[in-house]
This record gives sequence, structure tokens and C-alpha cells, in this order.
Amino acid sequence: MPSFFNSLLGMFSMDMGVDLGTANTLVCVGGQGIVLSEPSVVAVKKGTNQVLLNGDAVGNTAKVMLGKTPYGITAIRPLKDGVIADFEITEAMLSYFIRKVHNRRRLVKPRVVIGVPSGITQVEKRAVINSAERAGAREVFLIEEPMAAGIGVGLPIEQPVGSMIVDIGGGTTDVAVMSLAGIVEAMSLRVAGDEFDDAIMQHVKESYNLLIGPQSAEGVKHKIGSAVPMSQELEIEVRGRDAASGLPRKITLGSEEIREALSDPVSHILKAIRQILEQTPPELAADLVHQGVVLAGGGALLHGLDKAIEQEVELPTRVADEPLLAVATGTTKVLERLDLLSQILESGTE
Ligand code: ADP
Ligand code: MG
Repeated sequence: MPSFFNSLLGMFSMDMGVDLGTANTLVCVGGQGIVLSEPSVVAVKKGTNQVLLNGDAVGNTAKVMLGKTPYGITAIRPLKDGVIADFEITEAMLSYFIRKVHNRRRLVKPRVVIGVPSGITQVEKRAVINSAERAGAREVFLIEEPMAAGIGVGLPIEQPVGSMIVDIGGGTTDVAVMSLAGIVEAMSLRVAGDEFDDAIMQHVKESYNLLIGPQSAEGVKHKIGSAVPMSQELEIEVRGRDAASGLPRKITLGSEEIREALSDPVSHILKAIRQILEQTPPELAADLVHQGVVLAGGGALLHGLDKAIEQEVELPTRVADEPLLAVATGTTKVLERLDLLSQILESGTE
């Protein structure tokens, strides 16, 4: 579509950016910024793809149900592993979020920029495009998440300068070196926040014979989790079910033991970063000595992860200002320049 026509349509429509994350989905609107941030969770009738509450059991409503679902209901994270496990459920989720934000406030259907995990296949990309179109998008553009995160945190990714972004989400960690608006080296690792939670659950089970749920483990991680020693080590009380007696019981956990439990998944991430650096062409690698490594995604908030990376690869490492918002902010910036950037994005109208 000619761009003058599109700009005209733009006056009557609302362009949207979507960060379709494995843990959280964020939606932003051109000129307004981020307007929605909800967990990427859908509650369905067990054994079916039927979303409860007439298609509205999505996001916050559904997350509350995770791990507490009565018989007959399953709460699903359709992108848990960074790949689309279930197309229909992903579509229901995307559709719900787009409808919720768009709410037919404008006459013209929105153009939508969607950040997708860098590891997804062509078939999955097509499915995302189709879902967004069915959810009411007029045009759909896909952008790989590391690219969106790089733009979001303000890295000079369009310059002939190497930049490195490590986006630690729920299901995947994306490590990418970019230059001239392209991804030079990248890896999508299925070790991220969820694996941290699993490691905590496993530790509590092995050391205390206590079963705790993923939400409690996540709480422990947020409050006392770390990748390097803390100036003041912390403690937290956690409740669960005794594996032997089956009865509820509480224990106190210390930050040292949690760090130890997290050391395995953390070392996987460190290894991936090292590997990407080793594959990076020398000229770009030289740039990284100045540019350093930028961390995005919620996992970047794990205490001391930046320090651990800095020690491992000996490059300056910093956490982006609002790591959870990096990809969404990137899609907003892309929206502002959609007419210019549409050539470099994968689009649904080719
Ligand atoms: P995705 O892009 O895959 O949806 P996000 O970037 O939204 O993932 O990050 C979600 C992950 O970040 C979750 O595993 C969550 O537990 C983790 N996270 C959020 N805040 C913190 C924190 N303060 N400390 C450690 N991990 C955190
Ligand atoms: Mg993400």
C-alpha cells in the first residue's frame, strides 16, 4: 500500500506493537506507549482448546488460575518454551489482547508490529501473522525480539557498530550480536527465568522434602535470588506441602543456598554468551569492548547477574533501564517509523 495512503489511514486508526513473550505479553499503542502488560497465560477447559469465560480467561485472569485450577480446567502458557506449542491457544491469546486494546475505538483496523522469539520457524511466523489478521489487524509486521530489545534500549543497531543484547525472559534467553540493523550472531537458549524457578523447586524438594509451586519459587527468586554473593545475605519463609506426610509446612530459605541452586542454569547462560562472543567476527567483537553487553528481559533483574556476566566474559555489562519493557518499547519506536522500517520487517502483506 502506498505510504501516503497509509499515513492517511493512520490518522483514523491506532497502530499497535506487541511483545509476545513466553512469560508476559505487552501491548503498546503509537503515541501512547505501553497500555497493557499481562502474563501470557490462557485458561482452557481440560482436553480442549476452548478458552473459558467466553474467550476472556486470558492474562491476569488466567494467571491467578495457574497451579490452583480446579478439576476440569487447565491454565496454559502457549509460548512457554519460546516456540508456539499450540497455535489455536496462541491465537486466542493474541486475539484477546488485541481486541482488549483496540476495542473498536477507531474505524480503521490497526497495523500491528509483533516481536517474536528469534528461534521460531517460518510456519510459526505465518501462524502469528494469520492470528493477528484474524484478530483484526490490517497489516502485520514481525520483528525478532533481540532486534526490538536493542532498539528499545537505544543501542545503535542501525550503525556499522557491533552491539550485544542478552534478553533473559521466562522460557528463553536470546543472545544476539547486531550491526547495521541485522542480527550477525544469535542463539536462543531454553534456559531462563522458568529454569531458575524449577531449580528452586528442585532444591526445596531435595533438601527439605517440601513441594512448592512455581509461583512460590518465583517469589523466592524475586526476593532473595542472586548470581553473585550479596553484601547482606537474605532469608525468606516459604510454605508448601510435605512430600511424605502430604501436610502443609513452612521453612526458611537462605540466599546462599538459592544462589547455589541457581548456579547451574546461570552457568548455561554464561556459556551461551561466551559461545556467541567466540563466533563474532573480530571487528564487531572489538566494538563490544566499548559497547559492552546490555541485559534485557525480566531475568536481567536477578541480583548480580550483570556482575556474573562481567566476570565471565570480561566485558562491561549493564542492565537496561526497564528490562521488562525493552522489547515493547522497541516495537513502539518501530511504529513511529513504520513507513521507513517496513522494508526490513517481515510482513504479512508480501
Ligand atoms: P518473556 O519475554 O519471556 O515473556 P519477561 O521478559 O517478561 O519474559 O521476563 C519474565 C521472567 O523474568 C520471569 O521468569 C520472571 O520471574 C523474571 N523476573 C521478573 N522480575 C524479576 C526479578 N526481580 N528478579 C528475577 N527475575 C525476575
Ligand atoms: Mg521477552
